[in-house]
Amino acid sequence: MPKEISDILLHMGEHDLPFGAVSPPIFQTSIFSFPSFDAFQEALSDEPSHYIYTRGNNPTVNLCEEKLAALEHGARAKLVTSGVAAISLAIFSCLKGNDHIIMVEDSYDWAHYIAGTYLSRYGVECTFVDGRDIKNFENAIRPNTRVIYLESPTSFTFRLQNLEAVSALAKKHGIKTIIDNTWATPIFQNPLDYGIDFVVHSASKYIGGNSDILGGVIVGKSEEDMVHLFETEFQALGPVPDPMMAWLILRNLRTLHVRLPIHYQNALKVAKFLEGRDEVESVLYPMLDSYEQKELARKQLRGGSGLFSFRLKTREVEAVRRFTDSLYYFKKAVSWGGYESLVFPAATHYKKGEAVPDDKVSLVRVHIGLEDPDVLIADLEKALKTL
Ligand SMILES: *Cc1c(COP(=O)(O)O)cnc(C)c1O
Repeated sequence: MPKEISDILLHMGEHDLPFGAVSPPIFQTSIFSFPSFDAFQEALSDEPSHYIYTRGNNPTVNLCEEKLAALEHGARAKLVTSGVAAISLAIFSCLKGNDHIIMVEDSYDWAHYIAGTYLSRYGVECTFVDGRDIKNFENAIRPNTRVIYLESPTSFTFRLQNLEAVSALAKKHGIKTIIDNTWATPIFQNPLDYGIDFVVHSASKYIGGNSDILGGVIVGKSEEDMVHLFETEFQALGPVPDPMMAWLILRNLRTLHVRLPIHYQNALKVAKFLEGRDEVESVLYPMLDSYEQKELARKQLRGGSGLFSFRLKTREVEAVRRFTDSLYYFKKAVSWGGYESLVFPAATHYKKGEAVPDDKVSLVRVHIGLEDPDVLIADLEKALKTL
């Protein structure tokens, strides 16, 4: 298996394409036929390893999965229709009724909903913990705990968990670990190397990279876990990626290792600029020297992506509105991971006129895209002056 990142992204599995094609074909087919009874029978006896029906495997989808598995140092990957499908399938594949799950408290909204609300109808209880201290995980463990769910860093508050310590703790108690690695991407962080069992990604972010597709991926450290997931949740629930979507991801993956260092360089420059401004109280970017978990960040992350938050000193929604509306290059939008810069003030989560807690008024998330960072800094400077 190729080890070097550009080899995986540019060449892996693409040497003997039909007719010397450089771009891999899109196998837009729902079914695959067999030359004989015996071949048909053999395929049906081992569906995870054969092409039978595109709800299971498809060659275009599998090529994409092989690359993602190699990038994350996993045994196998499964591409699905969205990041939340990846999160749900990974969690469901480890749980049964009346089990217990531990989740970091500031995890992605829908992960929080799945564990804290949805699964309660199956008697599953969830304990949310502040993931910065390993003791909080230790104290939350019960005899029926089956999953510890991590997101490091979290994607609005940018807090880390110690992956090595959590994974060791989980193994001691026979608990599976899942991490959302969407922020760092496999370019900057490989959680499976610390003993984590499953990595999930929203491919709608950097893996897609252009804000034009939705997708998700689950990468397992063990072949056995991934075959189980394929044969149970994936086949039964059916969040099947279509071959065209897999092909678009393959195309956009070719530049992942080129885009991420630029997002990093730009974000660091913009974060440092914001840190030096009087209107700004603090900047929550793991790669800054001022970051509270700096040592852990240096250990676990080889770099940072383009997404971070900062706190303005103001506690007035009106001022945050003025600031936001004065930005020209930052589009006001959810999501992130495309080529473009975005702004997401936490206060927009509240209805017009509704009271907004101070810590939500001041919190603004930005995605730093591939624009010239000096242009973005000038734009921010202009908007900060309205405060
Ligand atoms: C967007 C996002 C998700 C959900 O992914 P979708 O593709 O939108 O379903 C999960 N985790 C994180 C950290 C995200 O930013």
